[in-house]
Amino acid sequence: MTSKPDVVIIGAGWAGLAAAVRLTEQGHKISLFESAKQAGGRARTVSFNKLAVDNGQHLLIGAYTECLGLMETVGINTSTSLKRLPLLLTVIDKNNSTLRLKAPALPAPLHLLYALFTAKGLKFRDRMAAINFGLYLKKNNYQLEQDISVEALFQRTGQTKILVRQLWEPLCLSTMNTPIKDASANIFMNVFKDAFTNKRKDADLLVPTVDLSKLFPNAAIKYIEAHGGKVYLKSRIENIEINNNQITSVTAKINNTEETFKTSSIIIATAPQNIKKLITNHSALDSINKKIVQFNYEPIVTVYLQYSKDTQLTQAMLGLSSTLSQWAFDRGTFCNQNGLISVVISCNGPHMALDDDTLAQTIHDEIAMLFTTKPSLIMSFVIREKRATFACTVNINDIRPQNETSIKGLFLAGDYTDTGYPATLEGAVRSGIAAAKHCI
Ligand SMILES: Cc1cc2nc3c(=O)[nH]c(=O)nc-3n(C[C@H](O)[C@H](O)[C@H](O)COP(=O)(O)OP(=O)(O)OC[C@H]3O[C@@H](n4cnc5c(N)ncnc54)[C@H](O)[C@@H]3O)c2cc1C
Repeated sequence: MTSKPDVVIIGAGWAGLAAAVRLTEQGHKISLFESAKQAGGRARTVSFNKLAVDNGQHLLIGAYTECLGLMETVGINTSTSLKRLPLLLTVIDKNNSTLRLKAPALPAPLHLLYALFTAKGLKFRDRMAAINFGLYLKKNNYQLEQDISVEALFQRTGQTKILVRQLWEPLCLSTMNTPIKDASANIFMNVFKDAFTNKRKDADLLVPTVDLSKLFPNAAIKYIEAHGGKVYLKSRIENIEINNNQITSVTAKINNTEETFKTSSIIIATAPQNIKKLITNHSALDSINKKIVQFNYEPIVTVYLQYSKDTQLTQAMLGLSSTLSQWAFDRGTFCNQNGLISVVISCNGPHMALDDDTLAQTIHDEIAMLFTTKPSLIMSFVIREKRATFACTVNINDIRPQNETSIKGLFLAGDYTDTGYPATLEGAVRSGIAAAKHCI
């Protein structure tokens, strides 16, 4: 049997891990380098008050088929590590009414039609506008020849104020982390298609019952190492060597010592802003560099609020509008962290100017409105991921790089590559799997 060539993967986020697992499965020997002390990248565990929490509350949906398949490969039981909630969206507006949309057990897209027709808080006019939205997307096969903003798409399809404020905008912010005035309609339509038009279960919300590192990265590392691969943590790749348009080696900084590893295949699976340093010395990669410097980034802030253990939201996940808070998650209901509420704020906004204490107090005041008796805040913890995702703006798909490059043996993976998806775990995993396929 011919031995399969070794592959070096740079970055142990979900994209790099996905590539590593799929290549390991095929019998390749993997060397995976991660500059941080833990794997997971932008989806990892951090510690707060002796609790394992996420660097930002993450949510998956049933349509994340590649993520789910990969978790199963490394031995994760996805039915216990994720709590599956049939689509139930409740968005409470500070100044207006509540919108509540619940999908019944009907095949797609009937479940969505029924949900819209029975939604609490919508008038006949709103329901018809929502149906018109779905029909417009279908008629255009979920892709416009000329990309426009999500806001323009709402105007074009006559979406009403309440639908935009309490349904479409919260969905756009949470899936694309980009304001509707800038967000790409084509990517929004792609997400809509995958979530609502195939199987009913694709729209299910999947909330992790374990911390993010246990959900996939830890098991992935175990799997890779059990099959002969090597994962180097706290090991930054400083340089990639290219000779005659072919990859020859990488130089890693491990414990302050530089070490060179010979290889003919590399997958760079870092966030886009980290690639520049690795590729700028190679003029053949200028075209990739030129694309990446055009990317903009958006933050995501998660505010953890610890209340007494009997404090509970009425639902595992609640949306808020006309507030700084966007989505509140009751971690007691899905990961046994009773009384702990995580509140997610996507994109830039006035909250970025507030210090952590003021922000936590403001968010606490907003969350307190959801209770008849104001709960007492025991402690709070704010995590700001300043470059959480690339901004998923109009025409961004035109500058997202492919997995293959012009250099023999060099491939790219990461949520920012040309997946058609916004920056999500599923996008990252799909890109990693695609890069692995090109590599072999
Ligand atoms: C707060 C927050 C909330 C989110 N919520 C959701 C959600 O609810 N649902 C969802 O689907 N997605 C969500 N996302 C997006 C999702 O986490 C990302 O799209 C995904 O994790 C990106 O994975 P990646 O592997 O492409 O990149 P990364 O996670 O950025 O991984 C790149 C890795 O490369 C390493 N690296 C960089 N340079 C080097 C080097 N020179 N040498 C070695 N290693 C290097 C980095 O340390 C990092 O670990 C969220 C993101 C954030 C930040």
